[in-house]
Amino acid sequence: MSNTQGASVNLLSLDRSAMENYFLDMGEKSFRAQQLLQWVYQKKVIRFPDMTDLSKRLRQTLQQNTNLDLPEIVSQQRSTDGTFKWLLKLKDGNCIESVYIPESGRGTLCVSSQVGCGLNCTFCATARQGFNRNLDVDEIISQVWIANNVLEAIENKPENCFVRDVADQRRPVTNIVMMGMGEPLLNFDNVVSAMRLMMDDYSFGLSMRRVTLSTAGMIPAIDQLRQQCPVSLAVSLHAPDDALRDKLVPLNKKYPIGPLLDCCRRYVGENNRRRVTLEYVMLKGVNDSAEQARALAKIIRHVPAKVNLIPFNPFPQTQFQRSEAETIDRFRDMLLAENIFTVTRTTRGDDIDAACGQLAGDFVDRTSRSRRMQQQTVVFS
Ligand code: SAH
Repeated sequence: MSNTQGASVNLLSLDRSAMENYFLDMGEKSFRAQQLLQWVYQKKVIRFPDMTDLSKRLRQTLQQNTNLDLPEIVSQQRSTDGTFKWLLKLKDGNCIESVYIPESGRGTLCVSSQVGCGLNCTFCATARQGFNRNLDVDEIISQVWIANNVLEAIENKPENCFVRDVADQRRPVTNIVMMGMGEPLLNFDNVVSAMRLMMDDYSFGLSMRRVTLSTAGMIPAIDQLRQQCPVSLAVSLHAPDDALRDKLVPLNKKYPIGPLLDCCRRYVGENNRRRVTLEYVMLKGVNDSAEQARALAKIIRHVPAKVNLIPFNPFPQTQFQRSEAETIDRFRDMLLAENIFTVTRTTRGDDIDAACGQLAGDFVDRTSRSRRMQQQTVVFS
């Protein structure tokens, strides 16, 4: 989708303050930024000639110097449970994925932050694909724009199964999780700008608690996030001790569990209504024993947290298996018995490879990881 020739700045890459500066530099009033955001994100207009409350001259200048280009939708898949997955082609030809999960009363969009991932979590399909680059702000926020637009267009069809009864914005996407491809905190500035757009009243206007960022545990960046943009935080813990976490989430060697949990405590601070979500993927025979549940309860006892158990989602050539349902229930019940709020995440969209950890996109790996990973097996004693 292109509506410009020789365009330079993609206005989708500017959050409100960046856009205000852009207009001020042009000799325009800063409130043009509000008008433009409303056209693009609320009225869904991405053609400058249609932005009728901007002067003709300004519309022409924007047409000449800027663009509102979106990624191309290469494919759209729909799961039997109503989950959608889009494969989106970026301007350089790389493809990323986003996933929409409808639930009663809300619709959650799982957004990617990088082309691939630079981390090397052994149980994740994205890691296996390697890494290409960070996404630009426009490429992150476009995922929300596209999901809302596509879903609104099909909303009235009988097979529609998403609920749109949320009072505030009445849009299909009511919640956003930065849990797609990539480690969002390794693309800090762009992710923060995009999240600001998600929450801006002139844009999608989501409240801070409806935007969740999930990280493998980049401690300094979590502290920075707390100061600059304290959205809801999810941390991929996955193990109750450093020896095991080193193997599952190699970033643990740099940022181990103790300091990470201290950082979670700082994130919540004095606000006793907030909680960090600790994600824990359930891997059969690896991290799902009763002893490990007890160890987990012990280390997180003083952390204002809730635990999200994620049944492992398999992908080709993985060495891992999903824990049995009874094992997951026992693990959950043991945490509950210790007064730790725990839920098991329902697996959604796995028939179209849209579940947690299954996103793979289609891109050129710029590391040699995808090749090395084919042979990699981690030994668990
Ligand atoms: N890089 C971020 C976002 C990753 S995806 C992070 O590490 O948090 C979101 C969640 O899915 C993470 O908790 C991740 O560990 C988990 N995940 C990855 N692969 C998975 C798989 N195969 N099955 C289930 N969950 C998985």
